[in-house]
Amino acid sequence: MQERIIYFDHAATTPLKKEVLDEMMPYLTEQYGNPSTIYKLGREAKKAIELARERVAKALNAEVQEIFFTSGGTESDNWALKGVAFANKDKGKHIITTTIEHHAVLHPLKYLEGLGFEVTYVPVEPNGIVDPQKVKEAIREDTILISVMLANNEIGTIQPVKEIAKIAKERRIIVHTDAVQAVGQIPVDVKDLGVDLLSLSAHKFYGPKGVGALYIKKGTKIHPFSHGGAQERNRRAGTENVAGIVGLGKAIELATANLTEYASRLQKLRDKLIDGVLSKIDYVRLNGDRYNRLPSNANFSFEFIEGESLLLMLDMKGIAASSGSACTSGSLDPSHVLLAIGLEHEVAHGSLRITLGEDNTEEDIDYLLEVLPEIVSRLREMSPLYEKVKKGGR
Ligand SMILES: *Cc1c(COP(=O)(O)O)cnc(C)c1O
Repeated sequence: MQERIIYFDHAATTPLKKEVLDEMMPYLTEQYGNPSTIYKLGREAKKAIELARERVAKALNAEVQEIFFTSGGTESDNWALKGVAFANKDKGKHIITTTIEHHAVLHPLKYLEGLGFEVTYVPVEPNGIVDPQKVKEAIREDTILISVMLANNEIGTIQPVKEIAKIAKERRIIVHTDAVQAVGQIPVDVKDLGVDLLSLSAHKFYGPKGVGALYIKKGTKIHPFSHGGAQERNRRAGTENVAGIVGLGKAIELATANLTEYASRLQKLRDKLIDGVLSKIDYVRLNGDRYNRLPSNANFSFEFIEGESLLLMLDMKGIAASSGSACTSGSLDPSHVLLAIGLEHEVAHGSLRITLGEDNTEEDIDYLLEVLPEIVSRLREMSPLYEKVKKGGR
């Protein structure tokens, strides 16, 4: 029998829910019609897509015509930024964002900079939250777009997107938010937020990988994502990922129906974890705001250790988690988010992100609180710097 893995990396991806797979299954087997065809098999696939669109619209308090299916969060972000930039460049070429966005926002913006657009990266406060006043001060005559994520994927902080959208609207600037981490964890209502574009991704809330959506408010000037077919009302050409879209629809319906209960359960586990780590271990800091953060997220930095070694030792204990350094992706740079909140390189390297989900229990937290202090002290024993601090104090 396979040993149970304690999975603490729900911000990376979540397991597919059984009910979601059940709804997808027919569209991977006998219901294989192309939704663009006119016979029954095709019409049924089309109907399934439209039901999913209704479910997404309902979950976000949007109109059905405002929901466009994509291949995931990265595509939604790329489409929103490039599509708006290209369609509005006659009005101006200035875009505002923050220093802690996901790479799916930062890298398209770098690409746009190469094409002559200008981007202002507004810094965040030490708690990881952006001050709307600083966003306001960054606005220029030629600002066409502001993109600020709703919740951060590393440190879990929730951004004041509603306030920022209000400021932007006074200047008739388009607002995009990457809500990939927020959907399924906090209420997401596009009308209440006042945004024009919003990205989401199914695999972050127990749906399948490779499918997402972009909310585009009626009347927003944006170029199509791809050309070559009439799918998604001529805005995103290509035969639809029918089963994936069906899965997204079911997953978002379940996520919004269970939101309050799910969030409060995770929040209790999160708080137990944070209190436990801060009381049991020395030279540790919690990254991000203590309270204004996702119910699933805890992110710590431990001085005098390497996040990668910590992850390997946790893995040996059957625990899957994430670190703030990107060494695994072939780079030795610590996370841009941790640096943006003011951490020193060495401290950022010793980071650990625990993101909770449906399958986690109190026993999982107890187990982590039992093994983590041991692992941290074992790793610190190998650090000459720690030895010095222990002997001489600071
Ligand atoms: C996961 C994630 C993405 C990318 O979504 P994919 O569906 O994996 O492409 C974008 N933004 C944030 C904040 C994320 O957490």
